[in-house]
Amino acid sequence: RSDLAMYRAKGAGRNTLCFFDQEMQALVMRRVALEAELRDAILKGQLHVHYQAQVDGNRFVTGAEALLRWQHPLRGPVSPSEFIPIAEETGLILSLGSWVLQTACTQLALWATLPEMAHLTIAVNVSARQFRHKDFVGEVMSMLNRTGANPKKLKLELTEGMLLDNVDDTIVKMTKLRKEGIRFSLDDFGTGYSSLSYLKRLPLDQLKIDQSFVRDILTDPNDCGIVRTVIALGKNLGLTVIAEGVETETQRSFLNENGCLAYQGHLFGHPLPIEGFEQLVNRDNTNKLPASADYVI
Ligand code: C2E
Ligand code: MG
Ligand code: MG
Ligand code: MG
Repeated sequence: RSDLAMYRAKGAGRNTLCFFDQEMQALVMRRVALEAELRDAILKGQLHVHYQAQVDGNRFVTGAEALLRWQHPLRGPVSPSEFIPIAEETGLILSLGSWVLQTACTQLALWATLPEMAHLTIAVNVSARQFRHKDFVGEVMSMLNRTGANPKKLKLELTEGMLLDNVDDTIVKMTKLRKEGIRFSLDDFGTGYSSLSYLKRLPLDQLKIDQSFVRDILTDPNDCGIVRTVIALGKNLGLTVIAEGVETETQRSFLNENGCLAYQGHLFGHPLPIEGFEQLVNRDNTNKLPASADYVI
């Protein structure tokens, strides 16, 4: 008897298969609908940029990561982990990505006029397809020109996979943008498959330790070892190291004791709408000094 016959004979067969089909169908339909709805979500004002604090060794807020939020009128919030891959596959990420970049640069230009905010940096996530686009450099430059944002305050977050795709092209693009003063952070570091020799060639400024290693840093000896290694690697390559997903004081002090001096995570603040983020900066930076005179983390 075939495996399927065996399966059916056990009495689970038809219903299970049918259930599976329906679930798959629902997923496919949601995807198709989200894709169509994402097309004009920007125009309908359903997309927002939230800002999550990045702090230094003194817990001084030096900047924020810009994170997209989609507040769907019927479905409620849709996670970027769900809609970013759709945007990537359909090419919508190009317009979505420039919109986020524009929003961040406009914000930087505005902050430059406010004494308490003028030091803040913004880190923007760049997707593979966006970075691969032949005019990515030109687009970032013209965005800076149009908004008047200081390139030194802009950080771009890239991931390992997209950099190794075409290393020479990657290096050319990064070098051009770095000449303008833009900095680069390698997001989700440790989850990809970077070879260390490539890493050495890339004109990076920062490694961002993935939250999956930070989560169990105190209980899992492997994660603890990986984090220590990444911190040492960053030091040797002359890069700053920031940890993401820091949720507890024990995680923070462990990272601190091991030489990681920049952090991001719920311990310091959730991703917040602009007003909430500015309140957090006003509250948390009062009577506090940055760990370094140039605020760079
Ligand atoms: P990411 O760039 O690695 O962003 C960090 C994620 O960790 C965010 O998830 C953030 O909300 C979450 N997070 C922050 N602190 C904590 C913490 O203490 N604990 C835990 N458990 N999580 C924390 P989010 O906002 O859902 O974004 C998911 C991913 O979607 C991002 O990962 C990024 O890859 C992508 N994404 C978000 N916004 C954009 C965007 O504007 N453009 C592109 N291309 N991708 C984006
Ligand atoms: Mg990121
Ligand atoms: Mg990350
Ligand atoms: Mg991630």
